[in-house]
Amino acid sequence: MDPVGVAAAPPEAGPGPAWRNKCPWGAPNPTSISCSLADVMSEQLAKELQLEEENAAFPEVVAVAEGPFITGENIDTSSDLMLAQMLQMEFDREYDAQLRREEKKINGDSKVSISFENYRKVHPYDSDSSEDEVDWQDTRHDPYRADKPTTTPRKGFIGKGKDITTKHDEVVCGRKNTARMENFAPEFQVGDGIGMDLKLSNQVFNALKQHAYSEERRSARLHEKKEHSTAEKAVDPKTRLLMYKMVNSGMLETITGCISTGKESVVFHAYGGNATEDKVIPPECAIKVFKTTLNEFKNRDKYIKDDYRFKDRFSKLNPRKIIRMWAEKEMHNLTRMQNAGIPCPEVVILKKHVLVMSFIGQDQVPAPKLKDVILSSEDMKKAYYQVLNMMQQLYKECNLVHADLSEYNMLWHDGKVWLIDVSQSVEPTHPHGLEFLFRDCRNVSQFFQKGGVAEALNERELFNAVSGFNITADNEVDFQAEIEALEKMNEDHVQNHGKKLSMFSSDGDPPIFDE
Ligand code: ADP
Ligand code: MG
Repeated sequence: MDPVGVAAAPPEAGPGPAWRNKCPWGAPNPTSISCSLADVMSEQLAKELQLEEENAAFPEVVAVAEGPFITGENIDTSSDLMLAQMLQMEFDREYDAQLRREEKKINGDSKVSISFENYRKVHPYDSDSSEDEVDWQDTRHDPYRADKPTTTPRKGFIGKGKDITTKHDEVVCGRKNTARMENFAPEFQVGDGIGMDLKLSNQVFNALKQHAYSEERRSARLHEKKEHSTAEKAVDPKTRLLMYKMVNSGMLETITGCISTGKESVVFHAYGGNATEDKVIPPECAIKVFKTTLNEFKNRDKYIKDDYRFKDRFSKLNPRKIIRMWAEKEMHNLTRMQNAGIPCPEVVILKKHVLVMSFIGQDQVPAPKLKDVILSSEDMKKAYYQVLNMMQQLYKECNLVHADLSEYNMLWHDGKVWLIDVSQSVEPTHPHGLEFLFRDCRNVSQFFQKGGVAEALNERELFNAVSGFNITADNEVDFQAEIEALEKMNEDHVQNHGKKLSMFSSDGDPPIFDE
């Protein structure tokens, strides 16, 4: 059977949901996608495009902190909790500003200054301005640490004659008590007393000790509570605030709950809010929050650090910004797919590491993954041909390899397959792009062969059908070796000529070099 012939079958042409027809993004402007390879490769252009997209997509979200919030217009009163939190933040900010003014007034030009830092409500890690802060600081070396106090020997006194001092001496005891404050919990603020010649009476020390212990217990309880609620709500307070802002701006009506908690992301369902003059929000949205833990970022970096679109920026960024690039990458990849007419979620808005897109499913119920749905043999066959078609479109029209394609990232909705989860997708010229494609082909091929689709190509045939290469090796080891040789050829070409080979090919011809 001729795989290319199969590929030529047109993709399923569906009119799409009614809201998309009204939607300014619903009908992609064909002029915006026709650009040269040089344009596509331009980092500058990519940045400009994103800026344009962002500005067009959510001017109100930016304005929400001042605009609707302060004027009291457009306030969604169904979200009292969110309003309360926003108000509290605003109040805290004002309170801190007042503290700073007082601090300044008290300190004046004095060389010794007093800090009110501990009384501030909005701490640096809560505020938006903390984006570039150092995540971790070495506090092991403390230049202010006091020298060990001199101790009284076992005999209980030192000195001679009238200069004898016993362990009950007030001064010695006082110093000892001061030094013992070091044993209090680290978060218990004992001030600079340890570094000075401060003498604490037994009575004062005991009272302090008592207080330190009860503080420690209280803080442990609070901590426990906080951890608990974080797990419950699945995202950190900063992310929650980002989401609240989306609701407060009216863009989303309500966030109903969590659909999925994965290793790398948490996905929520939300009802779309009010349409504005220039945009229509889908009636139901999915909010994908990319997780910002360091471990996950380590797992993913191989997909992004070799992607030339992100490479230059990658080396200069901290983990938090890299996570944002993941969200950004998913947005760009989804947009490319949308433009090619591949069924996938439509991007609504991107805010930092939070991506809002149209919801695939209905009435809060997400469409089932291909792995969970039981299809008739007819639908299974239909799904197979559609997936084959989409893989080819993805490769040839979007210049992308999914890189995590399997029955886990394909949803069955409205009688067709929808592709999701494309944050890791790369261009075929990525140093491992073809290996990723081969892995995708293996997953797809195995799934449909096991699902009883007799026509399903094996992974090697599928790879050739999608990529247009004509690798003839008849076993997996040789086949993979040839794939790696192709990748190497491409890398060598980049080294020698500073540019990539085009991996495109038409109708099964060998790849055309871009020179
Ligand atoms: P991950 O990287 O965590 O696998 P995915 O993008 O695959 O993230 O999303 C996880 C799950 O969330 C999916 O398996 C799917 O069930 C659900 N999901 C994600 N995006 C959407 C969407 N746009 N509409 C409906 N469900 C979605
Ligand atoms: Mg997934």
